[in-house]
Amino acid sequence: MTTNHVESRPFIGLTTYRKMVGQTNPTPYMALMPSYIEAVAAAGGIPVLIPLGLDEDALRALLSQVDGLVMTGGGDIAGEHYQSEHEEFIFDVDPDRDRVELFLAREAMATKKPLLAICRGHQLLNVALGGTLYEDVMEWMPGAIKHDFFNTFPRNHKAHAVAIEPDSKLAATLGRRETHVNSLHHQGIRDLAPGLVAVAHAPDGLIESVEATDHPYALGVQWHPENLYTDDPLMLSLFRGLIDAARDR
Ligand code: MN
Repeated sequence: MTTNHVESRPFIGLTTYRKMVGQTNPTPYMALMPSYIEAVAAAGGIPVLIPLGLDEDALRALLSQVDGLVMTGGGDIAGEHYQSEHEEFIFDVDPDRDRVELFLAREAMATKKPLLAICRGHQLLNVALGGTLYEDVMEWMPGAIKHDFFNTFPRNHKAHAVAIEPDSKLAATLGRRETHVNSLHHQGIRDLAPGLVAVAHAPDGLIESVEATDHPYALGVQWHPENLYTDDPLMLSLFRGLIDAARDR
């Protein structure tokens, strides 16, 4: 046998963020919660962290060297990217992170690079393709239920149900028509971008998952599967789907 098991494990890029660390002498770090890295590795990929601050030539070169991409969670996207009229509800913006991730999302779509977009990533994929966001779901979406379970709840807290469209790749990947998810977000998709379809909804109608129509695997989820798969192993199938698509390229 000549099978090379290392070669069968695709490289998966993961986006990172800036974080200030330390109380008395705060120092900037580029960071990522280990749950994303562990989920990629558990699903059979080799995680590669993508730093911020790189120019577009470097990002394009880096993206060409990975077989798939995870767009990770984080703070809000600047309102200028979707013509927001309610800037006062937008928090924790990093303009350089917006620049890097909008470029990577558009490049991944253009080159058909397999892509799993989580929480902020799900919102960013929509904005990158021309969609808009609710600056704050509770404030601006009529009939909204609570979605912002961060800070006071553990990250694996199952907050609400989602109904999954039966004919979607999400349903095929997850093998379920309904599931329960964590919910660690205060924003959400308002107007869906061209080229995306909504494939799961919360009980209040909020779009909880999108997939691209003309792409082998471009999936956005508003929840955090990387914090659920140890309790609910089927959630790892979202990462396995990404890695299978990356391996097929
Ligand atoms: Mn939610």
